[in-house]
Amino acid sequence: MNLPTTPATGPLPALLDQPPETLRAWFADRGQPALRVKQVRRWILAGRADSFDQMSDLPRELRGELARHFAALGTRVERHLVAKDDTHKLLLRLSDDRMIECVLIQEPPRRTACISTQVGCGMGCVFCASGLNGVVRNLTAGEILEQLVRLRNLTAAPDGRLSNIVVMGMGEPLANLDNLLEALEVTGHKDGLGIGARHITISTVGLPAKIRRLADLGKQYHLAVSLHAPNDLLRTRIVPTNEMTGLDEILAAADYFFEKTGRQVTYEYVLLGGLNDNPRTARELATLLQRRKAHVNLIPFNDVEGLPYVRPTPEAQATFIDTLKRAGLSVKVRKRKGSEIDAACGQLRRKVEQEPAPAAV
Ligand code: SAH
Repeated sequence: MNLPTTPATGPLPALLDQPPETLRAWFADRGQPALRVKQVRRWILAGRADSFDQMSDLPRELRGELARHFAALGTRVERHLVAKDDTHKLLLRLSDDRMIECVLIQEPPRRTACISTQVGCGMGCVFCASGLNGVVRNLTAGEILEQLVRLRNLTAAPDGRLSNIVVMGMGEPLANLDNLLEALEVTGHKDGLGIGARHITISTVGLPAKIRRLADLGKQYHLAVSLHAPNDLLRTRIVPTNEMTGLDEILAAADYFFEKTGRQVTYEYVLLGGLNDNPRTARELATLLQRRKAHVNLIPFNDVEGLPYVRPTPEAQATFIDTLKRAGLSVKVRKRKGSEIDAACGQLRRKVEQEPAPAAV
């Protein structure tokens, strides 16, 4: 068994990354009962403790021993930005010095956490900041959970909870499905963050086999598929991985998800001025989605430094919305939150990584 028995020289392993059986054995080695595992995890997940010192119902000596072997939270806050609309963005440094972003969006009574699943992204969507340098690695279940814990700890009231999770940060969630599901399983626990599957949206570029797997789980997650174009020719220009999958397979998998779960699928559509925002494309999209009980979420392009894309004109956007609505589709335009803090994912990390290193003193 992979037991950390001697204090590490590098960063200490994060507690949330330890399998419960590893922790049980660690406590047993110290003559401590198995219930300590639940107790410590509950402090972090529900009790807002970010150090062992705060865990007042543990013997003092045990708290010290825990602190020598584990990090209560393994990520470090590299930047914490707050926008005027009370959107918070965290840039977190992981134990291997990689960085990820996560965001808290507060629109009472909703408190939504937007989380990442990978360092970088391998999907290469041409307009997206997260994938510009490819994918580095998957996040562990603990790293996914820690984003939620840290964002929840930012909510104002001490009993404040997150109400929703959107897995729309950096990375392709379905390319890291096992770790994501492990984290979300904990999220739903009453001793954890108490957020059930119905309040969790998983957004994917469209990996058909993984969509089907998600459907077969029998969970009530909400699925959002990033469509961005109504035909393969245009979609492959915008979402290069489309070349390998194709729209038909993605839509068939999404239909299967709806059949199995009864949950309506959302189709996300980034509006890129002059590229996929013209009336003909809108009509084609309407025809494609009309016979489905689909919801469309339009996202006007968020500027990414160095990329040549632009937002649609207000007229083009209005015509696009109107065309979809007249076809009977349910349409929403995603509100822009925290724009002055680069809340669109992947942008802050790029900026900080490109900053010159601080001069040595
Ligand atoms: N890999 C997942 C999650 C990506 S982020 C997916 O593809 O769905 C969530 C949504 O934001 C996706 O629809 C993504 O295409 C969109 N997005 C990424 N960069 C954007 C930008 N600069 N402007 C607008 N939307 C963007």
